[in-house]
Amino acid sequence: MTDLAFDVPSPNAKAQEFLDRREYGNFIGGKWSSSASSETFETLDPATGECLGRLARSNTADVDQAVAAARAAFDDGRWSKMVPMERAKILWRIADLIEEHIDELAELETLDQGKAFYVGRWAEIPGAVGQFRYFSGLATKIEGATIPTSINYQPEGKEVFAYTQKEPVGVVGAIVPWNSPLVLTAMKLAPALAAGCTVVLKPAENTSLTAVRLVELMTEAGLPDGVINLVTGFGAEAGQALAEHPGVNKIAFTGSTATGRRILDAAKGNLKKVTLELGGKSPVIVLDDADVDAAIQGAANAIFFNGGQVCIAGSRLYCHSSVFDRVAAGIAEIAQSIKLGHGLDQATQMGPLVSREHSSKVGEYIDSGKGDGASVLCGGTIAGPNETFVSPTVMTDVKPDMRIMREEIFGPVLVATPFDDPNEVINSANDSEYGLAAGVWTESLSNGLRFANALRAGTVWINGHAMYDASLPIGGMKQSGWGRDSGQAALENYLELKTVCAIH
Ligand code: NAD
Repeated sequence: MTDLAFDVPSPNAKAQEFLDRREYGNFIGGKWSSSASSETFETLDPATGECLGRLARSNTADVDQAVAAARAAFDDGRWSKMVPMERAKILWRIADLIEEHIDELAELETLDQGKAFYVGRWAEIPGAVGQFRYFSGLATKIEGATIPTSINYQPEGKEVFAYTQKEPVGVVGAIVPWNSPLVLTAMKLAPALAAGCTVVLKPAENTSLTAVRLVELMTEAGLPDGVINLVTGFGAEAGQALAEHPGVNKIAFTGSTATGRRILDAAKGNLKKVTLELGGKSPVIVLDDADVDAAIQGAANAIFFNGGQVCIAGSRLYCHSSVFDRVAAGIAEIAQSIKLGHGLDQATQMGPLVSREHSSKVGEYIDSGKGDGASVLCGGTIAGPNETFVSPTVMTDVKPDMRIMREEIFGPVLVATPFDDPNEVINSANDSEYGLAAGVWTESLSNGLRFANALRAGTVWINGHAMYDASLPIGGMKQSGWGRDSGQAALENYLELKTVCAIH
């Protein structure tokens, strides 16, 4: 542990007004209420450990009420039968309102999650705006097909007419994690609402504040009562109850692979549809023909952005041996220059990790790597009043079977290893139970495309990393998940395909 002193800047007036409320309830059927048990729990500023406020601690009774409200709103068609252009207008208005409140939302996200302000203000919350705008456009483009058949047993003189139509899947349970709360929530809500579904949202227990504010803005945008319902609380209580609930038609989950397995078990009772956006251990490969300076900056951003608490973080670096020392030293230099501090300080480049529990887990990984014989090129320390600041870390002398090479650390810890044979490095990169994302740095587009074909990952970036857009599907192969968020593929998660075949 080393010392880290910092000031905590005051939040802006709007964020402060929200924080002054101190207590935040559930939102069910258009009304705010305390939990059925009246129990609450604290949400903390991870940088300081100070309590920011108390949230409703929901259990099965709250989830029952929220699902009933979502079911009533779905069944009476107040949203699913609203003409698509009207649905689109409300989704667009939600985007406008998020944008109008972007500084307030970014500060609340920083206080609750720890992230440096710029991450929310310039990347994640604009990403949430983009989700609602993109899916607003798609709400008017949910189309089936007319299908010529070879049926020939209709009565004499009659014809067959067959077509498909897409219908909303029903009540969606959206369960999201704490690393990028608002944008990951938007990635579920925007397509679900565009499709005409109603939703029960369960945010992560340590980062629920922006979900509360988002739901208020959605109501202000004109979303009818019961279309969005919010239950805050713990995964094993509210989350589990939602995943098990027989009244829920689909669970849209983002979180860890371990919880993903629990969700699957819980969902099997009524065979609800499930999509899973899970963990990753994404490789970044630097070939000998790369623009080395660009690769150094890109590989550093790929692991250190948002303190490495990013599912697609480039956490395994494979670098051609001819440039390995230069790249590793360059990344270490950037790592050591990163300014740690409270996220609200605009000069801060990296805030704390989300909780003391999480930073100590990341610390255990660093220790396990050292114990297994890896070297710490830079970083490896934990600091701050709440012991939540992990210094940006690069570890070398790593072997494929080390835990730090195989498991998702979800912190600012890069494991770096040289390679000589470009064909062999493809096997090394693919040697993971995860398959979420990968990056390759090369000045040869044909090398880049060859690697893109060979890498078993849901997304491959060439000469970049984490290039997100609402139009680009994102999700995992192997144990990184089922299904895709973003893009037209995401809309399909929330639609059922109905075939109609008529004799006329
Ligand atoms: P987590 O799995 O612990 O929690 C995610 C959500 O699930 C939280 O809301 C939590 O309360 C809830 N939950 C926990 N137990 C539950 C249960 N038994 N039933 C129902 N819900 C339950 O994940 P986390 O630690 O909050 O987030 C980090 C993980 O999320 C990392 O593994 C990261 O890679 C992954 N992630 C994936 C993506 C992606 O798009 N693939 C994006 C972001 C994060």
